[in-house]
Amino acid sequence: MSKCAGCGAVIEWEVTASGRSTPVNADGTPHWATCPFAERFRRRNRSGSRPTRVESCSWCQDLNPMSEKFCGTCGHEAHTPRMFCRCPKCRPGFIQVERV
Ligand SMILES: [Zn+2]
Ligand SMILES: [Zn+2]
Ligand SMILES: [Zn+2]
Repeated sequence: MSKCAGCGAVIEWEVTASGRSTPVNADGTPHWATCPFAERFRRRNRSGSRPTRVESCSWCQDLNPMSEKFCGTCGHEAHTPRMFCRCPKCRPGFIQVERV
């Protein structure tokens, strides 16, 4: 038996079928359904996910995080207009390997 850190109600921990422990009231109802602080708990549980800025690649339109210079799908510079792309694929020095 323990106490809810939010409202101070007496709760018990029950393990669900999915293996998660969930707080329940003395009468067996899930505590998050009756606790006035339930919303706060849920937000705290999600603290690990920070919103990442993503933008579509100018070459293939796939979404890439702004921190990535090159597109993970097509290999071109994801956040550079196509005509200014200087990735290994577009740089002249790499293309002129073939000699006629
Ligand atoms: Zn509570
Ligand atoms: Zn791309
Ligand atoms: Zn390129």
